Amino acid sequence: MTESTLIDAGGSAAGAGALLSILRDGRPRTRAELAQLTGWARSTLSLRLDALMHQRLVAPTDDAIHSGGRPATTFTFNQSARVVLAADLGVTHARLAVTDLATIPLAERSAEMPIDRGPEPVLTWLIETFRELLGECGRSLADVCGIGVGLPGPVEHGTGTPVNPPIMPGWDRFVVPQWLSARLGVPVLVDNDVNIMALGEYWAVRSQVQHMIFVKVGTGVGCGIISEGRIHRGAQGAAGDIGHIRVPSFEEVVCRCGNIGCLEAVAGGGALAARLREAGEDASVSRDVVDLVRAGNVQAVQAVRQAGREIGMVLAWVVNFFNPSLIVVGGDIAEAGEHLLAGVREVIYSRSLPLATQHLGILASELGDRAGVTGAAVMVIEHVLAPDVVDQAVTA
Ligand SMILES: [Zn+2]
Repeated sequence: MTESTLIDAGGSAAGAGALLSILRDGRPRTRAELAQLTGWARSTLSLRLDALMHQRLVAPTDDAIHSGGRPATTFTFNQSARVVLAADLGVTHARLAVTDLATIPLAERSAEMPIDRGPEPVLTWLIETFRELLGECGRSLADVCGIGVGLPGPVEHGTGTPVNPPIMPGWDRFVVPQWLSARLGVPVLVDNDVNIMALGEYWAVRSQVQHMIFVKVGTGVGCGIISEGRIHRGAQGAAGDIGHIRVPSFEEVVCRCGNIGCLEAVAGGGALAARLREAGEDASVSRDVVDLVRAGNVQAVQAVRQAGREIGMVLAWVVNFFNPSLIVVGGDIAEAGEHLLAGVREVIYSRSLPLATQHLGILASELGDRAGVTGAAVMVIEHVLAPDVVDQAVTA
């Protein structure tokens, strides 16, 4: 009898992916518990458990469960089976990490790396840095299951290609996944920075929330949408671009997109810095606004709180339309403390429908400047540990 007929006789090893999904919560379980949870015959369960152990994705734990009789072995997800290379490339800064399969960083680095150096110089540096980080944590390229990259511009997610990114000269239509996987030989996933930040923040609260909006208030304003626990990208990947929604009573403000009165041109960090500069303050970028607020500058505090109100006005529409249970506010300007959040809360709670705000939380980012790199890792992990991908791997 060949191995394949054995597999067919006892149910297929395909189905191992669903078993892994159960074990990914990290709780050790016995064969009896797993048989009960899945409803599978003991032989089918063993086949799938063996397939996962063969891939090292599941391992027996040291603690057996004693309940009278013979102690029962427990099994758990082996989050160190593979590693992920995660990168959050910003306009001027980059953060890179090697993480395990539960997003725990094993080695991490942040550095100045202007995105406008162009794709090949930036990605060559990325590969060199990843190699160094792998060395630091004693892992090799053979352990890597995938690479996740966030970019500060619009990305066509299906191909991982930046599309007309306004502040990334040379990157338009550059096929990032192809370039990186040709050199490193592993799957590469690319998305825009706001989506990966949303994924990272969602990962932190995933057991409590299914519908979430992540708002990034940096130089610009954008949001990532989590619906039913998944990123909602829309038909062209442009979902969540609230920065170019027009806010009333700013007819004189021209946005970099060419329209007038866009939220970003009114309430983004770049706009706030320009307004404070006009008022005689020393501010050229959004970080300067944060520094002024931290130093107690009254004009800066008022400007940030008012920006919160403008953003809150747009979010009040979003809340009525999308009915999230959580809004997380992150990005540079959010690091200016409670002022931005206070403005956002003030308007959302007074303008949205009571049913939509009854259980709505509006919170500051929990991960701060690590949201992006965490989300880049989540993007890869959710892809490579998806049940159908795992089934393919164990039956290959
Ligand atoms: Zn605009």
